[in-house]
Amino acid sequence: MKRKNFLYSITGGLLGMSGLATFKKFTDDLSEQDVLMPVLFIGHGSPMNGIENNEFSLQWEKTAKELPIPKAVLVVSAHWLTKGTYITAMDQPKTIHDFGGFPQELFDVQYPAPGNSQLALETKELIISTNVGLNHDWGLDHGAWTVVRRMYPDATIPVLQLSIDYSKPASYHYNLAKELVALRKKGVLIIGSGNMVHNLRMVAWDKIDKPGFGYDWAIEMHELFKKKIAAGDHQALINYETLSKSVKLAIPTPDHYYPLMYTLGLQNKNEQPFFFNDKLVAGSLNMTSVKFG
Ligand code: ZN
Repeated sequence: MKRKNFLYSITGGLLGMSGLATFKKFTDDLSEQDVLMPVLFIGHGSPMNGIENNEFSLQWEKTAKELPIPKAVLVVSAHWLTKGTYITAMDQPKTIHDFGGFPQELFDVQYPAPGNSQLALETKELIISTNVGLNHDWGLDHGAWTVVRRMYPDATIPVLQLSIDYSKPASYHYNLAKELVALRKKGVLIIGSGNMVHNLRMVAWDKIDKPGFGYDWAIEMHELFKKKIAAGDHQALINYETLSKSVKLAIPTPDHYYPLMYTLGLQNKNEQPFFFNDKLVAGSLNMTSVKFG
C-alpha cells in the first residue's frame, strides 16, 4: 500500500466517513495534478440561456466536454454582491431564481449539485489578504446555475460560489484571484460569470433575437476589451474607467465586469486567451467568453 493511501485509510478508519476524511482524500488527489485546470470567464446574458438551446448555451456544453472533468466548480457570479467576501459552505446549495418576468419553466429549474464544505474551508484558508466568511444561506444564483447546469447536467460535481465584495475596486478582485491559483492546480474549475459589455437600460428589445447587433459604443468596447485581454494588458483592464469614454455605457455598474477580474487574476503568464461566444446581443450586451489554459 502506498504511504498516502495508507495514511488515508488510517484517517478514514479513525474518522469514519466524516467530512475530515473526505477532505484528506480531496487534498491527496489534488496534489498529484501538475497540469493547471483551465479558468473561464463566461458571459451569461439572459437567464433564458439556462433553458434555451441556442448558440451560447450549446457552446457552454461543448466547452465543458473539452475540459478535464473538474473536482469541483467555483463560480464568481455577478449576482452575488456582498460587503466582505464570502464562500458558500453548505452541503446542498439551493437553486436561486433571482429574476422576474420569465416563464414558469425557468422558475421550475432545480440544479441539485452538492456543495463541499471542506473545499469552502480550504479556499477560505488560501485567502490571507481578507477574512473570507463561510456562508450557509446563499446557494446557486442564476449567474452560476444557468451556466454550470448546462456544462455539468448530472449535478454530481460540487459547485461553490465566491461572492463579490462590492465595496472594493477592480484591483481588489484581481489580486484576490491570485490567491486562488492553487485551486487550479487541484483540479477546481473557476468560472467568472458576468458580461463585459452589460447595459440593461439600453437593451434594444426589438433586436433581442438577433445576435450580432451592437451599438457603436458597445462594438468599440467589445473590441477594446478583447484587444486588451489578447495583449495581456491587465493593468488597463483593472483601470477600466480610463479605457475610453464609452466605458460608462458598457459598464454603467461594475457588477458584471468584476467576475472578469477573477479570470484575469488567475491567468498564468504563458497562457493565451481562447475566445468563444464572441458576439454582441441586443445592442448593449456582449456574450464574449474566454478560456485560459
Ligand atoms: Zn447577469
